[in-house]
Amino acid sequence: MSHILVIDDAPHIRTVLTEHLKLEGHTVDTAENGKEGLKLFGLNHYDLVITDVVMPEKDGLEVLAALKPHASEVGIIVMSGGAAKLDPQLLLKAAKAMGADRVLPKPLDFWKLQIAVKEVLAGVQ
Ligand SMILES: [Mg+2]
Repeated sequence: MSHILVIDDAPHIRTVLTEHLKLEGHTVDTAENGKEGLKLFGLNHYDLVITDVVMPEKDGLEVLAALKPHASEVGIIVMSGGAAKLDPQLLLKAAKAMGADRVLPKPLDFWKLQIAVKEVLAGVQ
């Protein structure tokens, strides 16, 4: 059982991810942007952070940069559907280059997410 932080500005994504992860037996906290997410990260221990990229306040790439010093202690999964004029594949490629353990396009395939969560928590490279 792991403690997971979900960061996404879309309320329905936060809700659905929380439900899925809780069914898997995990404890889940959520934040609606990177700024709030990093605040929670500073207060609690997390085994895994799942973050969106395009968000107000602080985006997912800024979250990744901030978590870099903690890379050995926390897994990071980045998901994105892009935005106007922003190709999701480009954002996910950047996220991968910045050290994300797994990247997933949106709309989310929950089966793939489930596998990614399992692998990252197990330390599979
Ligand atoms: Mg977003």
